[in-house]
Amino acid sequence: MNHCVSDILMAWYAGNKRALPWRDTRDPYLVWLSEVIMQQTRVNQGMDYYLRFAANFPTVFGLAAASETEVLKNWQGLGYYSRARNLHKTAKIITENYHGRFPSTSAELLKLPGIGRYTAAAIASIAFDEAVPVVDGNVIRVISRIFGITENAQTTEGYRQISGTMYELMKGLKPGDFNQAVMEFGALQCTPASPGCSSCPLMEHCFAYAGRQVDNLPVLQAKPIVSLRYFNYLVITIRDEDGEHLLLNKRTGRDIWHNLYDFPSVENDRIIDADELGKSAEARNLLGEQWVLKQVSEPFTHLLTHRKIIARFFRIRLQARTAAMMNYQIVNAMEIEKFPLPRLIEKYLQQNAPGED
Ligand code: SF4
Repeated sequence: MNHCVSDILMAWYAGNKRALPWRDTRDPYLVWLSEVIMQQTRVNQGMDYYLRFAANFPTVFGLAAASETEVLKNWQGLGYYSRARNLHKTAKIITENYHGRFPSTSAELLKLPGIGRYTAAAIASIAFDEAVPVVDGNVIRVISRIFGITENAQTTEGYRQISGTMYELMKGLKPGDFNQAVMEFGALQCTPASPGCSSCPLMEHCFAYAGRQVDNLPVLQAKPIVSLRYFNYLVITIRDEDGEHLLLNKRTGRDIWHNLYDFPSVENDRIIDADELGKSAEARNLLGEQWVLKQVSEPFTHLLTHRKIIARFFRIRLQARTAAMMNYQIVNAMEIEKFPLPRLIEKYLQQNAPGED
């Protein structure tokens, strides 16, 4: 049965694969870029980022030579910023320790920052023909359904069963093509909700279809609990002889959005109102006495993987600089676009351009 399943998957892939720019290359640098960018990202959105990175940093040397701020700026809006920082770190390691040549085995690739089992297997199989299976959400779903694997794939045993089945299936085939075939089949045919079973070439070989188990497979872990955070942002503007300025906060702590820029904030256990802001010791310390509240936004809700952030933006005009401002960057309001910003801040600025009061 295994050979039959593999042949059907490969034939389906030949006839149905999407023409994606990274499918035209076996350059490990470009394969790596595409795999890191496309994780947890829809193809349409990721495509722009891939094309931008490939154009702005066409080689690993170009990426290594860029500043971290430049890399984060190119990544802005894609989320999961640790991936961008690791991309940059790994580019530097490849140029400095490997003379710009990627290691050719998944075991060696795994030692690099930000390269986990999935990415290592994708690069090694696509760029170097190593017979190593990729195991991502699409592969887990397809293999669990066809072969009736009921073990949770996030457990060691579940992972072993999925990757073991993939090893068997890819024997005698080009590993990179086979891995991509299964992932593409999961993305287009055997989708999470309403898979195309009635037009599926594997219908006769599929455990889940025969046993009416399609909705029950794969078996997945319960979703992690989402924690809530409340950011009360102070969007502080000051006008002086050089024009309009804005206070930015570089997030240097071990927290979300590391090395990105947002505004000074009062983090609380709830969203506060203007009265509470006036009474907050943190706000008073930063603002001093001479400030005018120009606008209070409605709460913005922003979702991250394990967190929900609710934010309110208080737009404030300051008459004079205060000592506490030294802890922030004072930037020309027209230049804010040069800084890497979290999507939440970008969304706020799109609706409330600086210097409009
Ligand atoms: S029959 Fe349905 S569940 Fe089975 S492989 Fe095809 S699309 Fe997936």
